[in-house]
Amino acid sequence: PAEVYAITSGKGGTGKTTTAINLGVSLAGLGKRTLVIDADMGMANVGLLLGLDITDGTFHDYISGVADVEDIIYEGPGGLKIIPGSIFLENISEFDTDTIRRLIEELSSKFDYILLDTAPGIGKETACILEAVNNSFLIVNPEISSIVDSMKIKIFIDMKGNKIRGVFLNRVADSDEMNKEKVEEILELPVTDEIPEDPLIKKAFAQRMPVVLHTPGSDSSIAFKSIAARMAGYD
Ligand code: ADP
Ligand code: MG
Repeated sequence: PAEVYAITSGKGGTGKTTTAINLGVSLAGLGKRTLVIDADMGMANVGLLLGLDITDGTFHDYISGVADVEDIIYEGPGGLKIIPGSIFLENISEFDTDTIRRLIEELSSKFDYILLDTAPGIGKETACILEAVNNSFLIVNPEISSIVDSMKIKIFIDMKGNKIRGVFLNRVADSDEMNKEKVEEILELPVTDEIPEDPLIKKAFAQRMPVVLHTPGSDSSIAFKSIAARMAGYD
């Protein structure tokens, strides 16, 4: 069965979607059958960032019961498979834990890794996802506001019986308010990985590509690939 991870954060804009896509492509590059699900209902943008041509159903259609799992899986870059969300606000409907569990059950035998990109914070949808899956990655930025929000989601993840398998400190730069040690001290969690600030991430997405394929040797690409290698047991 697949290892399933929710990609979470306290607030928006920390790099969840960037991580889901680039880690997903990196795992696929190691020959692992990998799926990214865009489960951020309100801000679905995985398909948009990768220029996916959404001709069939979406995550939203599955949730509202009008599409089957076969109709919502798309071919992404580098062998990554993607379940995109709908970009139309009118398609937003609530989901529950059982629906997510059923979706994962239907997919579990077909993949080695499933990464769920989620909405930030402690909303109802993220609560359902954290209940439905066992593992999560927490994405934080080296700023006090991000760390404070991360402390809340950390407790929330715990409450839902989910386990944090990695803390990724993203957008690390020389000018940071806080370093890794400071973040670990406040969060009371080890930072497992640091992903540097890298302007190539945005440049790559402007060309509808993940940075790990656009510039495989960039600092952030190396970070994403090393996380994938460790997950897959290759380091
Ligand atoms: P989230 O999904 O958590 O809201 P995104 O992945 O969409 O966050 O990232 C938010 C913005 O930050 C995007 O414009 C993205 O290109 C940028 N970004 C994310 N990580 C980095 C990084 N390591 N270096 C530079 N820009 C980044
Ligand atoms: Mg996002």
